[in-house]
Amino acid sequence: MRVLVTGGAGYIGSHTVLALLRAGYSVVVVDNLSNSRVESLQRVAALAGRQPDFVRADITDKAALEAVFRRYPDVSAVLHFAGLKAVGESVAQPLAYYRNNVVGTMVLCEVMQAHGVQRMVFSSSATVYGDAKTVPVPESEPLKPTNPYGHTKRVIEELLADVQQANPGWRVGILRYFNPVGADESGQIGEDPQGVPNNLMPYITQVAVGRLESLQVFGDDYPTIDGTGVRDYIHVSDLAAGHLAALRALEQVEGVRAWNLGTGQGYSVLELVAAFERVTGKKIPYTVVGRRAGDVATSYADVTRASGELGWSAQLGLDRMVSDAWRWQRTNPDGYDKG
Ligand code: NAD
Ligand code: UDP
Repeated sequence: MRVLVTGGAGYIGSHTVLALLRAGYSVVVVDNLSNSRVESLQRVAALAGRQPDFVRADITDKAALEAVFRRYPDVSAVLHFAGLKAVGESVAQPLAYYRNNVVGTMVLCEVMQAHGVQRMVFSSSATVYGDAKTVPVPESEPLKPTNPYGHTKRVIEELLADVQQANPGWRVGILRYFNPVGADESGQIGEDPQGVPNNLMPYITQVAVGRLESLQVFGDDYPTIDGTGVRDYIHVSDLAAGHLAALRALEQVEGVRAWNLGTGQGYSVLELVAAFERVTGKKIPYTVVGRRAGDVATSYADVTRASGELGWSAQLGLDRMVSDAWRWQRTNPDGYDKG
């Protein structure tokens, strides 16, 4: 079975392509390399012992996508990772986010429809829940994102539901990821953020490797165990396995279905720092600063639906998340550039 993976050269996409190849799928990746390097796929090929096909193209480019679907008539499903994902940037450049994420998905759906491909697994985000009233957060929680990035994810979820409603043959899995961290245990592929990382784990690993001086902890006055924000960190390899489970589930599940992918367990910023120091033996200097605008106190997933319907649950705990993140950073201190 051939799967088309948009954004497959990126962080989560590359780990999922590895899992797909290992499970025997044929893969064609479509990526414009706006936030990734083709080297990630070369490393994936070396790890899997099999090559994914790669087409450098932008998903908003309909002619380019048409050419891909013509060249690969055996594509039977699409895993759709391609998108911009920086919250702050989305506030400054909403139109770029709507064009890339929403228009890109529209174009992708049009071309899929024209070629009779009716299976999609879409990368949504826990950010669609905003400041959720119920924690752990169930999939039934109202979608109230609080920034343009989150709005694009909600709009795409709605767009996919409308497309499916009009075309009942479509089957769509919506995966709402909580906080993906870590790296493949080989240390060969991992997260390679451009510039200073926005996210906690890559910030910590860059402090540990000496690229950054010290961590700023955004607020210690939240109503949590130690006052710092609590999140549901999930190992990227567990997330990759979740995509294979969702792909398989679409054989049975009709219509559109959303699944949370998290561990169901929350950890505070300081708990993550402590785990990192314990597992790696590296000291992480930090200072507490004010809250970051838009952050919520606590967010972690209700994972009942994913475990019941996908037969999937996260297997890797916090220690593996930090040791794998550190192995990747330590052996590739400058990411893919000089790795
Ligand atoms: P990433 O930036 O590493 O990967 C995205 C990939 O898509 C990149 O390789 C990029 O070059 C490509 N891309 C972007 N726009 C494109 C376009 N128009 N055409 C073709 N390729 C394009 O990000 P990631 O962390 O791997 O995230 C993958 C998906 O998961 C995204 O949709 C993101 O919004 C979603 N997500 C990520 C997180 C997270 O914390 N990493 C959390 C929730 C959801
Ligand atoms: N955080 C922090 N310092 C940083 C980055 C993040 O204290 O440099 C905190 C942030 O306030 C949140 C948690 O770490 O409580 C996870 O943030 P991240 O940006 O990784 O993910 P988010 O859940 O915001 O998408």
